[in-house]
Amino acid sequence: MNLILLGAPGAGKGTQATKISDRYGLVHISTGDIFRENIKKGTEIGLLAKSYTEKGELVPDEVTVAIVKDRLTWDDCKKGYLLDGFPRNLFQAEELDKFARIDGVVNINIDPALLMDRLCGRRVCRECGESYHVSTLNGATTCARCGGELYQRKDDNPETVGARLAVYNEQTAPLIDYYTKQGKILNFTGTEAPAEVLFEEVRAVLDKLAG
Ligand code: AMP
Repeated sequence: MNLILLGAPGAGKGTQATKISDRYGLVHISTGDIFRENIKKGTEIGLLAKSYTEKGELVPDEVTVAIVKDRLTWDDCKKGYLLDGFPRNLFQAEELDKFARIDGVVNINIDPALLMDRLCGRRVCRECGESYHVSTLNGATTCARCGGELYQRKDDNPETVGARLAVYNEQTAPLIDYYTKQGKILNFTGTEAPAEVLFEEVRAVLDKLAG
């Protein structure tokens, strides 16, 4: 089963991605994680990506599409994969259609008013990627799941979040229509309830899709 995870920044894609890929044995491919890793290692891709991610803008399509196209040729993708954060615009979606067969698109809808606070208060585990909101941490600085160090993403600040949300509305949201027309969209509503609640709904739908 090959899936796409769609939703605004802060909708809770990362948490659902871990749960979905665990349950269905899918490879979790996050273009944001790939860029962050490259930035950390100081690779050529990282140097290029840094200027865009810091401003909340999209890294150029040629670079992003080439990375995903290559990643999908790896052997582990034969068991199925979950794309998280890709595609981000219509061009990327059309390119993806040329080299991949997508079975379903999990779309998490969420009240936009919640996103700024969610993102600016987000703390992420360096080891396993689990995310938390600072208001629930009671001062804890390590991950409850694996003990890893929690950090704040550089782009989780009000200015960059504003830019990221604008990019989502202008460039990524039209993909909902694109995949609806393909009959692949699976719509869910993200809430403030624990992630397990949403995952139960996602699981019920994906169990059927997986057959
Ligand atoms: P994310 O972790 O998905 O929020 O992505 C963090 C940042 O990485 C984004 O704000 C973009 O700058 C960049 N990025 C991630 N995925 C893509 C993509 N599909 N196309 C272009 N840029 C991307």
